[in-house]
Amino acid sequence: PWGRVCRRFQNEFGDQAYSTWLDQLAYKGIDGYVAELTAPTKFVRDWIQRHYAPRLKDFFLAEDPKVKDLTIRLETRPAVQTAPGAQSPTATAASTYPARPRQASAQQEAEGASLDPKYTFDSFVVGKSNELAYAAAKRIATAGEVPFNPLFLHGGVGLGKTHLMHAIAWETRLNQPEKRVVYVSAEKFMFEFIAALRFKDTHAFKQKFRNVDLLMVDDVQFIANKDSTQEEFFHTFNTLVDNRCQVVITADRSPTDLEGIEDRIISRLGWGLVADIHPTDFELRLGILQSKAEQAKGVDVPVEVLEFLARRITSNVRELEGALNRVVAYATLVGRPMTMDMTRDVLQDLIRANDRKLTIDEIQRTVADYFNLRLAEMLSERRARNIARPRQIAMYLSKQLTSRSLPEIGRRFGGRDHTTVMHAVRKVEDLRRDDAQIDDDICRLQRLLEC
Ligand code: ADP
Ligand code: MG
Repeated sequence: PWGRVCRRFQNEFGDQAYSTWLDQLAYKGIDGYVAELTAPTKFVRDWIQRHYAPRLKDFFLAEDPKVKDLTIRLETRPAVQTAPGAQSPTATAASTYPARPRQASAQQEAEGASLDPKYTFDSFVVGKSNELAYAAAKRIATAGEVPFNPLFLHGGVGLGKTHLMHAIAWETRLNQPEKRVVYVSAEKFMFEFIAALRFKDTHAFKQKFRNVDLLMVDDVQFIANKDSTQEEFFHTFNTLVDNRCQVVITADRSPTDLEGIEDRIISRLGWGLVADIHPTDFELRLGILQSKAEQAKGVDVPVEVLEFLARRITSNVRELEGALNRVVAYATLVGRPMTMDMTRDVLQDLIRANDRKLTIDEIQRTVADYFNLRLAEMLSERRARNIARPRQIAMYLSKQLTSRSLPEIGRRFGGRDHTTVMHAVRKVEDLRRDDAQIDDDICRLQRLLEC
């Protein structure tokens, strides 16, 4: 199950966290109900224990229901660079120090394996929610001078921050190959810094991060409350900005919302350009899906499936891509054309997870608003058509857009019976077929609710 656990981890925490932490673990098997892992160093072990163990346990459980617990032991064999005579207890103790960080040069780092070749400007789909971030990133990658310093990109998880950073690195390499570019996650920055401290080798560390033309630090919220790392980051940052070297930073929130980071750092982070990436809207999601679907060779993805995904998977782009990949993989495997039924089937869990956000309450308010009714009026016993119709539409939409059952929906509509809801759903289905005006109203409402 380890491979699949790793994939789950990667999906949830990203490639950076995976390669920095999880990739260092070795899977030893399952003993009774305990999954056994080993870590090369105490530092890595403790870090994973503290930050990732509960989720790891969940992932194991999801793959193998008999797993109830997880242990991470230290590898008994000492790390490669420890002294010979390895079997002695002292040598084992030596292995509890972190592995010496690989000292890649700045250029190597930029060209390095840590950049995803898929994350380019070409593959980035631009919409209202990300156009500023995109333009700013592009500017940095093409401008000869330093247009704004730093560029601070922020936005929720899975909205393209890392993608843009990698794109900057690729594009800079293309336009200005002489520039030394370093991309690093804040997590890795910290990991290397702490390792450098332990090896009393902070000189090489400083060289590596201060001796660059363009430094990109991803997910800087990560160093909140990590005092010494923050301090080092701040010095690195100041040195670079003072030398007119470009710095790009991302975080999951704006500089002022960063907690556990010193005020003087926060204020400097906001000196350049702060660009936020907003949640996607329906159009952008559809655009992204279309561009990904074109890349899915040999599989024809019907437009209605793309629209369905764009409407229903609203959480973030990573999940949206994952959903498309899953349906494509399924269709390819079973060798059947992709249909709506198949899509719904394959994505049941994802759709339900995304549904949770849209509540019956929101639907009721939106529909009442749309038809200029008061909510209480719409939920009342009144049967006048101008009130009963919107009520039926709201019931219909609750059935379509949430995973609530008919009786539950009935209860939420002033304690009505499930047969009333069923009747409303059928009625509205008929109306949509026969009455273009109503069909149009419903399409608009769906759009209002789902973007
Ligand atoms: P973040 O770093 O903000 O959490 P990522 O950059 O890792 O998000 O993006 C998550 C996934 O979504 C990546 O596979 C990325 O390529 C994709 N993605 C995000 N936004 C876009 C976009 N506008 N166009 C194309 N792909 C995108
Ligand atoms: Mg990221």
